[in-house]
Amino acid sequence: MLENLKRLVCQANKSLKELNLVKWTSGNVSFRDIDTNVVIIKPSGVHFDELQPEHMVIVDLVGNVLEGNLKPSVDTASHLYVYRNRDDIHSIIHTHSPFATSFAVRGKDIPSYTTTAANIFRYCVPCSDFAAIGEEEVGKQIVDHLGNSPAVLLRNHGVFTVGKDIEHALKAAVILEETAEYAHYATLHDPDLLPLSKEIIDNCYRFYNTSYGQQVKSKSI
Ligand SMILES: [Zn+2]
Repeated sequence: MLENLKRLVCQANKSLKELNLVKWTSGNVSFRDIDTNVVIIKPSGVHFDELQPEHMVIVDLVGNVLEGNLKPSVDTASHLYVYRNRDDIHSIIHTHSPFATSFAVRGKDIPSYTTTAANIFRYCVPCSDFAAIGEEEVGKQIVDHLGNSPAVLLRNHGVFTVGKDIEHALKAAVILEETAEYAHYATLHDPDLLPLSKEIIDNCYRFYNTSYGQQVKSKSI
């Protein structure tokens, strides 16, 4: 079932490695189908280079495996918790991308020092409390700390990004790591550096979300 979506989720998982966001087998992408509400997710412990569409595991929202011969990601229960609690989210990405994870290790939010960070994350990327992996505790931390941000740092672990589709979750994962790298180096050289003001952040966020990219024009007759 859902062969096209399995190909899409498989390719998205492989792109994590191509974008240098993951190493070895850690990290995953999932997608919740809009029509059926089932979730397609990476299998546990499989190398990204070896992933094939038929390896993707399809589960329902409470974790029953509907299709797939491999065990789903150990983060599946947490992905499902987020999907059950946030109707607006259709894709979740988990990585241990290094600069962002260094903030998660220190339990620090990443304030917005750049206009790009303000465009995407508004005031900051929040950091959650610690939660053990395996059950839905991680999912609870994500839901509790995410707010309107597309990204959250999981204390002492890594990062989760979300989106209305895979493209948006992937974009947040890439820009999060870039944002964390800039913040790391900038504060390394200037520990007292202040983030952008609320006024500038609000202007960036409003402008980006209303004016950036190609606008869909109505057909003229
Ligand atoms: Zn992890």
